[in-house]
Amino acid sequence: MNLVVMKFGGTSVEDATAIARTAAIVSGRVASGKNPVVVVSAMAKVTDQLLRAAAAASQGDRSGALAISSRLRCRHRDAASALLKERQSCALLAALIDEKFDALDEVLRGLAAIRELTPRISDLVVSYGERLSSRILTAAFCERGIGAEHVDAREVIVTDSEFQKAAPLDNVIEKRAPEKLLPLVAQGKVPVMAGFIASNEAGLTTTLGRGGSDYTGALVGGALNAETIEIWTDVDGIMTADPRVCPDALRVKVISFEEAAELAYFGAKVLHPATILPAVKKNIPVQVLNSHNRASEGTRIIPVAPHCKSPFKSIAVKKKLSIIDIVASRMLMTHGYMSRMFAIFDKHKCPVDMVSTSEVSVSLTVDSNASLPEIAADLSKLADVKYEGKKALICMVGEDIRGQSGIAAQVFAAVRHVNVRMISQGASEINMSFMIEEDDADEAVRSLHAAFFHDPDPAVFDVEARKAAVSS
Ligand code: ADP
Ligand code: ASP
Ligand code: MG
Repeated sequence: MNLVVMKFGGTSVEDATAIARTAAIVSGRVASGKNPVVVVSAMAKVTDQLLRAAAAASQGDRSGALAISSRLRCRHRDAASALLKERQSCALLAALIDEKFDALDEVLRGLAAIRELTPRISDLVVSYGERLSSRILTAAFCERGIGAEHVDAREVIVTDSEFQKAAPLDNVIEKRAPEKLLPLVAQGKVPVMAGFIASNEAGLTTTLGRGGSDYTGALVGGALNAETIEIWTDVDGIMTADPRVCPDALRVKVISFEEAAELAYFGAKVLHPATILPAVKKNIPVQVLNSHNRASEGTRIIPVAPHCKSPFKSIAVKKKLSIIDIVASRMLMTHGYMSRMFAIFDKHKCPVDMVSTSEVSVSLTVDSNASLPEIAADLSKLADVKYEGKKALICMVGEDIRGQSGIAAQVFAAVRHVNVRMISQGASEINMSFMIEEDDADEAVRSLHAAFFHDPDPAVFDVEARKAAVSS
């Protein structure tokens, strides 16, 4: 079997036109002898709107919540009727969409009565986004001659019960994915399943965290030992910076697993941070591709990338961070102090991104989150604590940064106008990061990009696209 997992993001299924384009991409793969398994996100922005509806309902705004749901119902019905010309299948899909929205409205009414939104109910509400898009996609594929069959993702991806950020149970998935999907593939069918959503062992709906459809794609690809995992999105691949921030960004043609994972973890939204893990385990290449520009070759993520003459491959930014300063003149270097401090972060399930220590103080960076006051209160039993939000971490990823002399001087010269709060260099061979004010982040990325990507290595970066843009 030439199994290819094809994951399509929200913008690849945002409306009827995008879904028709996606169907053409999948048809193309089938025509070239591949066996696709399709994983799909909710239509663009639907997850945000479902979360807004859930929040409104739980604050007692029943009519506001139902109004959001009603707009979403129209959007899904419009897409379905534009896609399906065959009357009977169109009516069937419309009825299915209505059934799902009726059920969603019941949940929203219940929330408005109870006025409490638990992570478990939040996952149930957002799951409708992918449950709907995967059904519409399946019907649209069938009408276009693809033998598509819908598979409930919650029967394939099983997780723990950490609602909103559930961890997959690899052993169960390794068994379920081949059991549920391979018989369909063997019959020449194209399984279509939702990304992002899953279930715990009790059968309750969970999710893998925002952006988690990439992770579903990789989990399925890993469990099926696919030939390739394709991530179809709205940009030409992994770029040298977020093209929304830096319009000069170039496509990176090839990058290593380790570099891509580092970029994803440090904020390059193009990939969910856990996407690379299943691929690494099974040594499966990942290809990031643009469903709006099929001519682009995308980015190939492979175990070991070829040597790159440029010092960096890409710049990522992680925003909405906080810095915590812990000052303890008496105890800092005493035995067991650090472990007591980290035990507090552990207790609050709060991952720490960066740490820097001095004789009397420790500074740490964490995602800004609602537990920060409680974390600070616990830490203040050990030492004096201050925390400050609205920080951003800039992360420069490249090959053997540690081995390149003078690189730090060049980086800080490029951002000399910016106040740098914390630096981490040397902890990783491929990553150099520093923390600045969030408001300075976009400008800093553009300055760094201008400094480091003016003469990019053509073996690794798509310099032809830049030349074409300049001459047009
Ligand atoms: P999807 O809905 O397909 O999953 P996302 O919005 O999650 O798409 O991710 C794609 C977006 O990631 C792009 O539109 C781009 O703005 C952003 N992005 C951030 N950093 C990068 C980068 N280094 N390369 C490419 N895209 C990036
Ligand atoms: N729909 C989900 C989100 O918006 C998952 C995804 O798109 O990957 O976060
Ligand atoms: Mg995404």
